[in-house]
Amino acid sequence: MQYKSTRGDVVDCSFSDSVLWGSTDKHGLFIPNNFPNYSKKDLEEMRSMNYQELALRIMSDFIGDIPRGDLEKLIRKSYTREIFGTDAITPITKISKEKYLLELFHGPTLAFKDLALQFLGNTFDYILEEMDSTTNILTATSGDTGSAAIEATRRRKRLRAFVLTPEGRMSPFQTAQMYSVLDPGVFNIAVNGTFDDCQAMVKEAGEDKEFRDKYHLGYMNSINWTRVLAQIVYYAKGVFEIQRRENLPVDAFVDAATPTGNFGDVLAGYYAKKIGIPIGQLDLATNENNVLDIFFKDGIYRIRKKEDVIVTDSPSMDITSASNFERYIYDIAHEDPKVINDLWKQVKEEMFFDISNTPYFENVKNSGIVSGSTIKRERYDAIKKIYNETGIIIDPHTANGAVVAEQYKREGVPMMCLATASPIKFEDSIKEALGQDIVLERPEQFRGIEDRPKRYVRMERGDVDSLKKFVAEHSISL
Ligand SMILES: *Cc1c(COP(=O)(O)O)cnc(C)c1O
Repeated sequence: MQYKSTRGDVVDCSFSDSVLWGSTDKHGLFIPNNFPNYSKKDLEEMRSMNYQELALRIMSDFIGDIPRGDLEKLIRKSYTREIFGTDAITPITKISKEKYLLELFHGPTLAFKDLALQFLGNTFDYILEEMDSTTNILTATSGDTGSAAIEATRRRKRLRAFVLTPEGRMSPFQTAQMYSVLDPGVFNIAVNGTFDDCQAMVKEAGEDKEFRDKYHLGYMNSINWTRVLAQIVYYAKGVFEIQRRENLPVDAFVDAATPTGNFGDVLAGYYAKKIGIPIGQLDLATNENNVLDIFFKDGIYRIRKKEDVIVTDSPSMDITSASNFERYIYDIAHEDPKVINDLWKQVKEEMFFDISNTPYFENVKNSGIVSGSTIKRERYDAIKKIYNETGIIIDPHTANGAVVAEQYKREGVPMMCLATASPIKFEDSIKEALGQDIVLERPEQFRGIEDRPKRYVRMERGDVDSLKKFVAEHSISL
């Protein structure tokens, strides 16, 4: 399987190149040249597989240049009971009639990003080993992604991680999750500024081509194709498991509700449906930052200025624009790079595009995605209701999906709500929703994490020279 760019600037590159590059020089995103289309017989076979077998079955259809035996090893190394604390990897829990949670938060950082990043870290390392090369991952984060990237990089032979974080602007738990990693290959850099300041520094350092090439800078951000691919697997796993519990045949539809930020997780669901996994309707949920909800209702994609982003209890969904959305529009626009170039040129210049009066919007309406947005009161009511009925506590991100799932629930079609984070990461919100006396039981490895020794360096915002110097001194090379 070869890959191409949404902007038309790359054709026929290998899976491995898509991993290492992340995106193309012209900011295009990698797309497989074609997609499998599973038959009922394929689905029957897949339904009896465990997580690792299913991952191999699906991923091998997208990966041409890693021998099957090696791919199997990478999968077995990434999805273990030891790392995810459960053989199921992504367990299913029933919360009411025909309604289930797909629990995606059992990885090392307690959010769904681990499912993709554990595999991406191993795959990165494997490809570098084959090429006898190394990579220095440079990234900025406001929370979830950073710790997942750190966990994906540590103990990998050919990777180092430099992670910029806004000092004092993350929760004590999130800060501890990153700064308490003492591995010699992981460097936490605390910047006295905002997340945007951190991102601007990473961007500026990366735009220096000489520097970038000399120190083999690499990225693991959400547009990396491997992340989307790895996420397709758990949609399939979840659907099959719900069919089994509801005694349904393998072609019976299950709907899914997904909280969204960068459109990565929803996109994986969309591709799962495209390749024949029986997903009926995909319910996309946003919080008050409802850029995508507006698009799916009105056909207008209007990105926001940074200062117009609303800070919410579901911070990983507080976005200005959705970086993976381009892949969806590419599909909707019959894979025409010209359309993508034109639309994103307009976004760059005017901060919006409007396809409401084009045939493309008909394709959007027929694509199986419906949308909704939620406000804090609705999320907290959902957290309370589910807790009162089942004793299960969902986190505020998951609550976005649960609210929208309620709006679109179809009689007789089971609903799979994607639970993207563990509630223990958002203790303050949970206490506000459920009452101060609620006790959130932390898994063993997170007890007292705030009090552990920390390792990080400080840097002034905007001081790109110091950043480059630091990377140069601590970079990995053979
Ligand atoms: C990143 C994240 C999201 C949003 O996922 P996208 O793939 O960016 O849409 C939702 N919930 C949690 C907990 C996250 O960490």
